[in-house]
Amino acid sequence: MPIFYDTHAHLDYPDFAADFEQVVERAQAAGIQKMISIGTDLDSSRRAIQLAEKYPCIYAVAGWHPSDVMRAPDDIRDALRELGRHPRVVALGETGLDYHRLPSQQPESAGIDDQTYKRKQAALFRQHLEVAAELKLNCVIHQRDALEDTLAQLQPFADCVRGVFHCFADDAATMKRILAMNSLVSFTGIATFKNGQNVRDTIAATPLGQFMLETDCPYLAPVPYRGKRCEPAYVKELSEVVAQTKNCSLEELSTATCAAAETFFPKIKS
Ligand SMILES: [Zn+2]
Ligand SMILES: [Zn+2]
Repeated sequence: MPIFYDTHAHLDYPDFAADFEQVVERAQAAGIQKMISIGTDLDSSRRAIQLAEKYPCIYAVAGWHPSDVMRAPDDIRDALRELGRHPRVVALGETGLDYHRLPSQQPESAGIDDQTYKRKQAALFRQHLEVAAELKLNCVIHQRDALEDTLAQLQPFADCVRGVFHCFADDAATMKRILAMNSLVSFTGIATFKNGQNVRDTIAATPLGQFMLETDCPYLAPVPYRGKRCEPAYVKELSEVVAQTKNCSLEELSTATCAAAETFFPKIKS
């Protein structure tokens, strides 16, 4: 059976609390051999590390999600250093910039202006990049409606930190700019959606070995589970659509995506 990895999962979320053991078992039974649980704040990162300590097939990424930065302290570098040195922490993130829903568009965020919000996202993204460079780790990057600012912040670090632009749904030209910075992309179940042809076009243009697969679970369950809770086992359904799109065998896709993940997250090599 071809082996795949889920390189971006939120296994610490309460969505998985009730049936966690079965979630892990179903993943293993589907050939999803390794899973990376991504932190979205310091507590979430610590929970991801606890899972990684308990399950040999789970690894952790530690960081603070850009959409949630207003709750963050001004300087999280010491915490990132401490978490990043943990043997099961394989990268920092998810970090980056997300301008999709600015405070001015959200009635509940009264008192925060868009510029303050963007400045705080940029400050925290920079802290992740600085600590990643120090610790020789890569970064899991979340980018939405903020491509130019994200690339501009990553560029000065491009010779020492690689980024994976996770849940990638931009066009081939953007993918090429990212690969040119020695970074890479990763694709979710959006590739299986009826309206996901733009993502399939980008996958067709992305060389094997330059992208990874992920669920971003509990979100974005692939067809035929669309709309339900997503879980790592569903990388299988994603891999079938991606192999068709690349016109390659599942074995070739397995070899290329696992090698890309092991190069990007060297600590997952056992
Ligand atoms: Zn994300
Ligand atoms: Zn995520």
